[in-house]
Amino acid sequence: MLDNLGKNLTNTMKKLAGMSIIDKEVVKEVIKDIQRALIQSDVNIKLVLNLSKTIEDRALNEEPPKGVTPKEHVIKIVYEELVNLVGEKAQEVEIDKKPYKILFVGLQGSGKTTTIGKISRYLQKKGFNPAIICTDTWRPAAYEQLRQLTENMNLPLYGDPENKDALDLAKKGLNEFKKQDLIIVDTAGRHKEEKDLLDEMEEISAIVKPDEVILVIDGTIGQQAREQALAFSKTTKIGSIIITKLDGSAKGGGALSAVAEIGAPIKFIGTGERVDDFEAFDPERFISRLLG
Ligand code: GDP
Repeated sequence: MLDNLGKNLTNTMKKLAGMSIIDKEVVKEVIKDIQRALIQSDVNIKLVLNLSKTIEDRALNEEPPKGVTPKEHVIKIVYEELVNLVGEKAQEVEIDKKPYKILFVGLQGSGKTTTIGKISRYLQKKGFNPAIICTDTWRPAAYEQLRQLTENMNLPLYGDPENKDALDLAKKGLNEFKKQDLIIVDTAGRHKEEKDLLDEMEEISAIVKPDEVILVIDGTIGQQAREQALAFSKTTKIGSIIITKLDGSAKGGGALSAVAEIGAPIKFIGTGERVDDFEAFDPERFISRLLG
């Protein structure tokens, strides 16, 4: 772990590794560097302060285990606490019943539809055969976007652009696909009022009874991620998060306040517009990015 850390983490850690003595001042300096990097990456200030305090307490009070130098010990503490902040590597999708139902929620533009394509490809490669239900009655192009996507990937799709009743679409779709191993339900990302959108999520969730709810968050929106996550989590229990658009300059730190707020792990990240630009979340890489 420490080897990887040495390879991956950035100047702050290199600096720490280069120190000959680890004392209170060095610990404080390292913490300042980390704070600066995290705040620049859009991590919520309260999270940063809590993290700093924990690192400082542990670094100054914990005895290193036998055979571990004080320096290695501090590096390990910093690493552990950063992993705590971003969450452990989440379990990948575990499909343990049939049909396994995944409900996708997230605001319009977050990359929800693109991500449904990506996760479907990912699950297809694992031997599953996802079927998609489109319940987005709000955005006229949603059905067409899914139709093209599913046609290219050879996936069954249920939707009806003429039907404006999302709950009815959900029910009919579930009925159509009851023999499938895996059903992915796409939902609307926008309504006239946010309250209508959230009410609809709650009602769809009650009908679908999902085995897993995935919240899609745009990695470039910074601190708004927290409010979005909170709003959706009031309508249904969010099981995991996918952060999109991490191919650009966004470091995705804002999404961490969503993780902290609702306690759901990040499972995947989106790294581009193409269907294969999708990877399992790797805490270590994410930390490097945050500090880099
Ligand atoms: P939806 O409204 O939430 O369904 O969002 P879409 O799936 O239609 O995506 C909105 C825009 O974001 C589209 O132009 C997508 O190509 C783009 N997009 C989605 N995911 C990513 C990503 O990981 N990286 C980049 N660069 N663009 C993405």
